Amino acid sequence: MFANILLKNMKIINFNHFFLLFSFLVIVSCKSDDDVIIPIDEAKIENLKPLGTSASDLLSQNTYSSLTVELAYNSGYRPTQITIDDFKTFLEDRIYKPDGIIFVETEINSPFVDSQTLDDIKEIENEQRNYYTLEDDIAVFIYFTHAKSSSDTDTAVTLGTAYLNTSIVVYEKTIRDVSLSQNTNLYLLEETTLQHELGHLFGLVNIQEDDIHSEHEDLAHKKHCIVENCLMYYESNLSSNLRNKESVPALDPLCIEDLQAKGGK
Ligand SMILES: [Zn+2]
Ligand SMILES: [Zn+2]
Repeated sequence: MFANILLKNMKIINFNHFFLLFSFLVIVSCKSDDDVIIPIDEAKIENLKPLGTSASDLLSQNTYSSLTVELAYNSGYRPTQITIDDFKTFLEDRIYKPDGIIFVETEINSPFVDSQTLDDIKEIENEQRNYYTLEDDIAVFIYFTHAKSSSDTDTAVTLGTAYLNTSIVVYEKTIRDVSLSQNTNLYLLEETTLQHELGHLFGLVNIQEDDIHSEHEDLAHKKHCIVENCLMYYESNLSSNLRNKESVPALDPLCIEDLQAKGGK
């Protein structure tokens, strides 16, 4: 029940995004007059909000003038360089951050496991995420994991999930396996998954029910776009669709107008 891409019998399905409203971790910290030490959890509160609630903060320059993107990965699971370069271009094309978009990389140390639950992933983020939203800079955490999703089955695998306002997991091992088994370009699978999940952080489609074009939400696959060649279509990273393509599906005009209404380009 979250922003999700699944490959199922060659089809991708989604879960309900609003699971996050219930799984959202609420941290209660004690207030102190001593301003020398800030409780660490208090420093994380801005990054523990539900999916889609930071769309304007990410897209516009109103509150935050720069963006830090933390690319975190297990050893050996860094995405391809072309994916990272194209992802930066995608961000520059869509958001206003006059003080820049900064990419940092973090190697995640976690013992190898075959699969991870979303709670496992949140725990790793809580322990090893280095950059949180601070002052004029908003930070996004993207974890490329060596494990598959615990919700995978013999016929359905998850490629990526956006699970909080600034948090994404990309199942990099699964993407590589699908690339090999389905004979699909690795870069296209990585990049489409990354951009699609970021689209969910941008609030697409109608995640917080405040889009100006709510009528393009696919009611059969909620929080996705009905336009079949749009990045936010529920099957946008279906390997059979990507096999004969050379570029990532673009956002259709309605999705772009939704982003522009929230301060994006
Ligand atoms: Zn999705
Ligand atoms: Zn669209």
